[in-house]
Formats: sequence, structure tokens, C-alpha cells
Amino acid sequence: EFRVEDAIHWFTVVNDKIQENKENLTTLDQVIGDSDHGINMARGFQEVVNKLSTQEYEEVADVLNHVAMTLISKVGGASGPLFGTAFLKFSQAVKGINPVDYDSFTKGLEEALQGVKQRGKAKLGEKTMIDVWSPVVDVFQSEKGFEDNLFIEVAREAMENTKHIMATKGRAAYFKEKSIGHIDPGSASTYMIFEALAEVIK
Ligand code: ADP
Ligand code: MG
Ligand code: MG
Repeated sequence: EFRVEDAIHWFTVVNDKIQENKENLTTLDQVIGDSDHGINMARGFQEVVNKLSTQEYEEVADVLNHVAMTLISKVGGASGPLFGTAFLKFSQAVKGINPVDYDSFTKGLEEALQGVKQRGKAKLGEKTMIDVWSPVVDVFQSEKGFEDNLFIEVAREAMENTKHIMATKGRAAYFKEKSIGHIDPGSASTYMIFEALAEVIK
């Protein structure tokens, strides 16, 4: 079961990881983007955490909604609206369910992925954050409970695997073949989000 305090813990750990890796994320975006992914994510999640500590939340959906609204309003670039949409759809999917059971959490992740796909008009294999979200959703669907955390290894491999893909969406698509050989920045930050989740639910 996933509770309000778990959700707060999750995004606190996400923020720690993003702040620690701000330079790394920006370096990834330097090669196949515009060098701002670390800056965008660090600004957004810092803002998320600032407000998390000053508000009361009745249910997990409220925390997710807060995260979504903050990312949408504070993060410029593609990633803010995309992660924002993900957590907004997640929030809507678990509204009224508190604590959130495993199956509802899985449903929330599915909806989040659908939201990213729709918003970004992208699909699996285009070297975007979808390439990490999608296999993680598959793991949640095939498992039965939070215990195993198998998704963490899958997420890591999926992130690494974006190296071999040629980008066809987002700024990296302008680099065409030259985008091959580099990890997608948004996949790296998505990995951190799931790495944080694994730490929180273990
Ligand atoms: P910007 O590209 O606007 O500077 P960021 O650098 O913050 O924004 O985020 C870039 C990341 O956003 C990419 O690495 C990729 O994972 C993700 N992304 C970009 N376009 C799309 C899209 N159409 N669908 C899904 N994800 C996308
Ligand atoms: Mg960028
Ligand atoms: Mg940008």
C-alpha cells in the first residue's frame, strides 16, 4: 500500500537525486539537446519539495496533483509539461483511493504513460522518456505487489538502451544519426524517479 507519507517521501528523494545529478543531466542534454534538462528538472522538483513541506494532503492523489501542477507551471521546455501530464493522469487515476493499493498504483502508472504518449505524440522507440516509462509499466503489470522492485533494473537497462536509438522526437531528433550513442536525458531523469520509488517502497 502506498500512503500520503510515501508519496511525499518519494518526491523528496526524487528531488535529492535530481539536485545531485543536475550537472549530469545537463551534460546529457548538451550533446543532443539544449543543455537545460538538469536545470529544468532541478528548478521544478525544488519547487515541488518546497511546497510539499508546507501543505496538508488528504490523499495520495492530492500530492500527485500538486507535483503535476508545479512541474507544468514552473518547468519550461518539453519535460515540464510531459512529466506534469504524467503525474496529473496518475493523480486522476487514483483519486479517492487512499492508501493506494498495488493494482491502482499500476493503473496510475499506465495512465501516466498514456498521458505522456498523447501529450508528446510519441511512442516507444523514439529515444524519449517513454522508453523508460513503458517497460516499467510492463513490470508493474506483470508483478503482483510492491515487494520485488524488479522495475529498477528494467528501468536502468531501458535508460542505457536509449543510447542505441536514433531520436525521432524532441530536440534530439534534429541530430538525426548523431543522436545515436548518447543516453536520452529525459530517460535518465525518469530512471531517477523510479530509482527513488524503489527506495521508498522497499
Ligand atoms: P527541451 O527539450 O524542451 O529543452 P528538456 O531538455 O527539459 O526540454 O527535456 C528533454 C527530454 O524530454 C528529452 O530527453 C525526452 O526524454 C523528453 N521529450 C522530448 N520530446 C518528447 C516527446 N515528444 N515525447 C516524449 N518525451 C519527449
Ligand atoms: Mg533541453
Ligand atoms: Mg530547453
